[in-house]
Amino acid sequence: MGTGRMKMGKPMKEGDTRELNRFRELLDAAPDAIIEADAQGRIVLVNEIAQRLFGYSREEFLALSIDELVPDAMRGEHAGHRESFAKRASTRPMGSGLALRAQRKDRSVFPVEISLSPIHSDDGFHVIATVRDVTARRLAEERFQEMQDRFTRELEEKNRQLQQRNAEVERSDRLKSEFLASMSHELRSPLHTIIGFAELLIEELEGPLNEKQKRFVSNIHQDSHHLLALINDLLDISKIEAGRMEFHLEKFALAPALEEVMEMIRPQAEGKGLRLTVGLDEGIFVEADRLRLRQVLTNLLSNAVKFTPAGGEVRVAAQARARKVAISVVDSGVGIAREDHDAIFDKFYQVGSTTKGVREGTGLGLAITKRLVEQQGGRIWVCSEPGRGSTFVFTVKTGQGCTEAPRPLVLIIEDEPRAAELLVNYMAPEGFSTLCAANAQQAATIANELEPEAIVVDLSMPTSEDWQMIRELRGYQRLESIPIVVVSVTEESDEARALGVDAHLTKPVGKRQLLDTLAKAVKSEPGRRSILVVDDEPMARELLGAILREAGYSAEFASSGEEALALMERAAPAALILDLMMPGMSGFEVLSHVREKANAGEIPVIVLTGLELNRGDTELLKKKTVAILRKGQSWKQPLLGALRKVVRTS
Ligand code: ADP
Repeated sequence: MGTGRMKMGKPMKEGDTRELNRFRELLDAAPDAIIEADAQGRIVLVNEIAQRLFGYSREEFLALSIDELVPDAMRGEHAGHRESFAKRASTRPMGSGLALRAQRKDRSVFPVEISLSPIHSDDGFHVIATVRDVTARRLAEERFQEMQDRFTRELEEKNRQLQQRNAEVERSDRLKSEFLASMSHELRSPLHTIIGFAELLIEELEGPLNEKQKRFVSNIHQDSHHLLALINDLLDISKIEAGRMEFHLEKFALAPALEEVMEMIRPQAEGKGLRLTVGLDEGIFVEADRLRLRQVLTNLLSNAVKFTPAGGEVRVAAQARARKVAISVVDSGVGIAREDHDAIFDKFYQVGSTTKGVREGTGLGLAITKRLVEQQGGRIWVCSEPGRGSTFVFTVKTGQGCTEAPRPLVLIIEDEPRAAELLVNYMAPEGFSTLCAANAQQAATIANELEPEAIVVDLSMPTSEDWQMIRELRGYQRLESIPIVVVSVTEESDEARALGVDAHLTKPVGKRQLLDTLAKAVKSEPGRRSILVVDDEPMARELLGAILREAGYSAEFASSGEEALALMERAAPAALILDLMMPGMSGFEVLSHVREKANAGEIPVIVLTGLELNRGDTELLKKKTVAILRKGQSWKQPLLGALRKVVRTS
């Protein structure tokens, strides 16, 4: 049998032959070439695949040294490698990390992967080499590498182009700003002269003009003014965009500053037969750049006058809050469709259809206004509906701490402006100030700026989107503790309750009903925090909830000590009503946790327990709580009394 150089000393038994055949089959069934060599490198055994791979017949193989399968160029070193393998023989891949190659009988070279296994047999040290042809894999790898290289090169090129383009854009932006700035200066001087001479002609100082001449000169005068306005706006926007506008913040009283603007606007308004009114809270101070604030007010007021037909009304109002002052410019004019509410603050955006018949401006006014407001740390937004007037509101820093308590501010998220108007009319005479918001996102921004005492969401038929909006509102951290009142045509729903809506009023809502609800929501407001009830018994929580709400407080609930601590982490309640006997963490433990926390140390705690307390416990609790009440005895009035004391003064 010709498997290899076998010792043929003893005659073979039949069993041996069977075994050999089996071995032969196994060898030939292997997917890789298998070659066995002795200590000198002489090949003693090969399988079918080896013959196919290398192109030698079995007989030819058996006359070869394994070194002859190594490409010519590397053959010299191979004997050395073989010897060192024999010294530290173990099963392992050969030349790991190297791109190995083998050589066929026809001297062609191909890539291989080889693993080596030592065998210690009767014939001495042998090595079995398993050789796998990896031509196809290498090809694929090379192609993959090529592709990767190409992509990398392309990406680098794209990046380079992008950087270049960015640099070009920056440069052209800068050039544009510089060009605009210098052009504007250049244009202003001749315009100044044109306007001046046109005015002289209109005044007829150099002799009378006929009607036609008057009309011509007046056209020149008007259009020159328009051009001047455009140039001024362009100059402003380019300055802002180039970051070259400086703001000189100072603290000053709002009323006289506003009056200056009103004086300027009044002739225009009166000329159109508009009523112009002002409603400021007493003694409002702002911190702003005086000139820029004036510019913002002028822009908003001249828009209001421009877009309000004869007989209408324009009103400016302002209210001071803790950190910001909100200034509103309200008109009864043409209004703006919701889809344009954001776009009107873009450069050169003008709403064609609503402004029909009204002489167009530059389309830059609001873009500049928005930037001026924001660069001074404020916000600006609009609430409007076509045909129902517009309210522009912007905020500016307060110039001093509030001296007197401001009127409670209610933020109305309006679904339908007409209905919202009714709510405003209910609230305003009762000492509430109101502001509008068109959606949850806007409400969140406004609430962040002004921290209103309550939010009223006016919905006609609440849809799942509306509930989603309320969920979003609740999700904003600053709004978490602001009471939300929903007004809609539907009955109160579980959905609303689950979202933490504080009150749900079903339309038609009467004035008294709304005001009572708001009064309650706002009353529990000191610090806008609610009372945290900690009790493991659901009935006890429900009862306390009802009592607290009835008394005008808002309540939060925890059914265990752990939950209570977690809730307090988020927001400190105005007071804690604490049961002592609870599974898990006891009331005593909650109390000592609360007293240890630096920021929670001030929270007044009222103990309401069914537990018989011994003298020691009572002494201990007295030190840490404002009242200890027993569930069996009359506790309702003492509880409310204690709350009145601590929550009002907190
Ligand atoms: P313009 O110079 O055209 O007034 P603005 O940037 O000031 O440019 O305003 C952009 C557009 O917003 C106006 O063209 C107009 O369509 C709309 N707009 C602004 N203010 C009002 C308003 N009070 N009432 C109705 N539409 C307004």
